[in-house]
Amino acid sequence: MCRHLAYVGPSVRVGEMLTLGSHSLRTQAWVPRDMRHGGTINADGFGVAWWVAAPDESVTVSRYRNAAPIWTDPAVEEVLPQLESTAVLGAVRSATVGMPVERSACAPFVRDRWAFSHNGVVPDWRRTLTSVAAEFALTAAELGAEELFAPARLLEVESATDAAMLWVLLCDLLATGSPDGEWSAAAAAVRLLVAAILDRTPDARLNLLLSDGTQVWATTCHHSLSALVTDTFAIVSSEPLDDDPRWQAIGDRSVVAARPGALSVDALF
Ligand code: GLN
Repeated sequence: MCRHLAYVGPSVRVGEMLTLGSHSLRTQAWVPRDMRHGGTINADGFGVAWWVAAPDESVTVSRYRNAAPIWTDPAVEEVLPQLESTAVLGAVRSATVGMPVERSACAPFVRDRWAFSHNGVVPDWRRTLTSVAAEFALTAAELGAEELFAPARLLEVESATDAAMLWVLLCDLLATGSPDGEWSAAAAAVRLLVAAILDRTPDARLNLLLSDGTQVWATTCHHSLSALVTDTFAIVSSEPLDDDPRWQAIGDRSVVAARPGALSVDALF
């Protein structure tokens, strides 16, 4: 299992978000408190995404990853604090047995203005997720979007892991959009993905974390998650970063949407 966090709010130093608090993400890499059947430490690499506004005001996501343990990488204290952003998504990894330990397997996975992390495991992930893709492809074809969930798309998977494959599927779900706007479209996408996987493998563990740099969406399915949302910032994290009493534990089987001043927690199904 892994630990992850996402922040949206006033500009912060990217490196600092990894070391912030008495129980920072970096600390959670070697002494997590709430692993729930998923290994003991998160030593198989880490990654962090942050958002950058171009002169034309379009926003894209940038990323740094390393397959080494986060506590061994001097960039965390020497380089990443020089970068500032109004949003950060970070993850430390404990590779699932049988999955490769390599940089391309480390979250966050990114595309356009999206960044994504998965904490958990999809049993028999190749069979399960190609079956999900086949189901989604039928719906996409009915909508005239044959390229979505097509075999060529699935081959874009960055690493041979469940998490990387989840990201390919989620990207295509996000591409289908929703007339109700992004807040509900992203929540609907993660919900649909979790539901389709649990239909096939009910013991899948699916804590997903997604951000576009202005909002954060997350699911809880087996693993821990907490949120601290004020009028100025929102943090969603596998474990609270400190003992601030405003941290709220998120119950299992929830879908979370958060931004500064707003937190919604609904039942997944
Ligand atoms: N299964 C994912 C991976 O191996 C996530 C692992 C985890 O949550 N420990 O990358």
